Amino acid sequence: MHAMLLSCCVLGLTMLGPCFTAPTFIPEEDSTPTPEPQVDLKLATDYLQQYYNLQKDPLGRMKRSGPSFVSKVKDMQIFFGLNATGELNSDTLEMMGSPRCGVPDVEEYSNNQGTRWNKNVITYSIGRYTRDLPRSTVDSLIESAFSVWARASGLTFVRSHSGNADIMVEFVTHAHGDLHPFDGPGGTLAHAFGPGLGVGGDTHFDDSERWTAGGTGFNLFVVAAHEFGHALGLKHSRNPESLMYPTYKSPHPTNLLSLEDVANINALYSPVGVHPNHILRGSQYNPWLSRSLFPGLMQDRCAPDLTFDAVSTLGDATFFFKERYLWIKHNRQNDIKEGPIVNFMPKIETSIDAAFWIPRRSTAYLIHESMFWTVKGSVVKGKPRPLSHFGFPAWVQDVDAAVHIVKTGRTLFFIHDVYWSFNENRKVMDFGYPKYISEDFPGVNTMINAAFYKDNFIYFFVGPQVYKYNYTQKLVVGVENASSWLGC
Ligand code: ZN
Ligand code: CA
Ligand code: ZN
Repeated sequence: MHAMLLSCCVLGLTMLGPCFTAPTFIPEEDSTPTPEPQVDLKLATDYLQQYYNLQKDPLGRMKRSGPSFVSKVKDMQIFFGLNATGELNSDTLEMMGSPRCGVPDVEEYSNNQGTRWNKNVITYSIGRYTRDLPRSTVDSLIESAFSVWARASGLTFVRSHSGNADIMVEFVTHAHGDLHPFDGPGGTLAHAFGPGLGVGGDTHFDDSERWTAGGTGFNLFVVAAHEFGHALGLKHSRNPESLMYPTYKSPHPTNLLSLEDVANINALYSPVGVHPNHILRGSQYNPWLSRSLFPGLMQDRCAPDLTFDAVSTLGDATFFFKERYLWIKHNRQNDIKEGPIVNFMPKIETSIDAAFWIPRRSTAYLIHESMFWTVKGSVVKGKPRPLSHFGFPAWVQDVDAAVHIVKTGRTLFFIHDVYWSFNENRKVMDFGYPKYISEDFPGVNTMINAAFYKDNFIYFFVGPQVYKYNYTQKLVVGVENASSWLGC
């Protein structure tokens, strides 16, 4: 497990001197040995036991001159780029007093857990919240912290509400059941367990700290991003520029990740070869063996040029398909789940060209090229069926968009510049189709990527734009950005 610490200057602790996260580390030539009061020795002993694997003296004695103590002090000084004197000088004690991550800086040899997840889609769940911030703020800071790593790697993080997830996030205080009790305000801020079953990946925040979304107190986004590095298998870095440096850093306007962080996460999660320390779980399928197999996976849902292949209601959520990726926006809750389609619908390993929802059947139809799947609840029924089921002529081998109009009981299929109308009650194609889109939908005269029906409006997704079309008045009444549908 790991913990992280904070930088100097912002803490309410008695920390003196320049912030040690500053890029220049100039060891003081003439640092005066401190008087070494007993309280410093206690601090140093606890620190080295927790982070540098100093063995406890069976009689509970603390000796600053013992060979193992001195060598651990030197290890710590070397890690932080201090003069390796082995003495508890002021620089060393100041560093030891800095808020930090609870994960040791040296490998615990008892830690034989796996070093990485054997998959690229990782779930997380938030259990106990802090009262320092609104829940929605915690949710979004945690999501942002995961996206720091998602953007730098081929990894995808999907939030689970089931309480059963790879990475369980919790705010706790003091002893909390994992043999690594927190220490009240300051000191250890958080820790996380490396990848593995059970407690593996779990990330705990010390709720004795004041968690914030800004520059005062401890910034939850920064600490969480550091801890999730551990939850993914990264260790502490000696580079003060790196997110994985063990002490706390207040939010910085530039990149959170150093080049070293990016290199390390990609070394760990490079296209899966044979990794000796794999955690083997769920071996039934793994279509994501190589990142090259899922181009476009890491879509930024707030990109101004975001487009969708298909949009459909499914149950009480709206599904947005793009290549092999899927966003799911719940109609009542505020959160958006996302990930490869196959993560939600294991049978569907392709993109989806068009999709529509028939409420009275509680059924969605997902079309890929000339085949379609039927989805009831969240279950994909049977095998895909051919599009000819709807009565298309043989030359129709794919569909750009589809939408079901509840009011008329018709499903409209859009293909290039024409559309078909299918009577869902009589289960036949309406007579006289295909017809030109531009004639029947004035103002909509380009190819349509996706279509969505709600409350007598059809929303036509055309490139990054969405035309809101009043179906009764036959009029475009508004235009918005596709990304605004994902809360951007
Ligand atoms: Zn850490
Ligand atoms: Ca603490
Ligand atoms: Zn814990």
